[in-house]
Amino acid sequence: MPRTVTLAGGADLEGFRRACRALWAEQVEPGRVRWRTGGEAAEALDAGAGPPPSATPPFARALHVPAAFMPLCEQVVLHRDAGRFDLLYRLLWRLQTEPGLRHDPGDADWVRAREMAREVHDDMVKSADGGEAPRSLLALRVALERCRECPIGEHATQAVPGEGPRHARLMFVGEQPGDQEDLQGRPFVGPAGQLFSRALAELGIDRRTVYIGNAVKHFKFELRGKRRIHKTPAQEEAAACLHWLETEIALVDPEALVALGATAARQLMGFAVAVTRSRGQWLKRADGRRVLIALHPSALLRMEPEDKEAAYAAWLADLRQAVASKGAL
Ligand code: SF4
Repeated sequence: MPRTVTLAGGADLEGFRRACRALWAEQVEPGRVRWRTGGEAAEALDAGAGPPPSATPPFARALHVPAAFMPLCEQVVLHRDAGRFDLLYRLLWRLQTEPGLRHDPGDADWVRAREMAREVHDDMVKSADGGEAPRSLLALRVALERCRECPIGEHATQAVPGEGPRHARLMFVGEQPGDQEDLQGRPFVGPAGQLFSRALAELGIDRRTVYIGNAVKHFKFELRGKRRIHKTPAQEEAAACLHWLETEIALVDPEALVALGATAARQLMGFAVAVTRSRGQWLKRADGRRVLIALHPSALLRMEPEDKEAAYAAWLADLRQAVASKGAL
């Protein structure tokens, strides 16, 4: 009997992944699955209700996903072709059962998937050229990479978009990528990011459940010898970047935000906020979203050693309000 999987929307990658794990755990072959997206009438298997990892039957083999497959999925799910989920699940299934498939670039399923990914990419580039606001986080990533609306983008290695679930309920916003973030293309992975991750862990927040990004998307620095030293973006540079942050907020649609530092607070609120005076307070944006004001972790790193412990404890207490905030997590 065919299984019907209903995804939350046409580009519900997370739901697709969960469904694939559940289907594979039950060894449901590709030909027995009907994929539907939100809004269409459907019955049966809810993609979000697949068995959790612990419920996976012990005899089921682990699902092995080659590194290049997920970036391909990210693009293919954005295609309009109604058969895209069929194709992706079939490919994933075949990758488990046909060891030589990944080295067969001429395989018809591979060819079609790559073709769809290329069409999606080309559409994104056309939209960016036409000045349209990106309609997905992937499209935003492509648009940021091409952006040169302020001088910062000329010198950075790459743009660093935020990361996290598309509909995270809580969004943290820092200032701009640092040296490590610029090299790795991910936010909050350098020394300040590590302190931030430690704080999240101590607060019981799984970093993967929140959205983490920056107000400015490229790294601004000055060279001192071989070292790249962080430079605060000028107001006009931050202002040029504001529409990207607002697009990101509109796409993620969080219930609450946390401004880490003065640049983030000014960008999110539209006016200068004295962070040391307002830290720990909730402000309200014009769009009704609440913003918790907090120090940027790099401010803690710069403190005198004897002040650090107390400052870290106070920072944690401020951030704890985001956890306590009704409905934020
Ligand atoms: S910092 Fe922002 S506005 Fe400036 S080039 Fe990068 S993405 Fe564009």
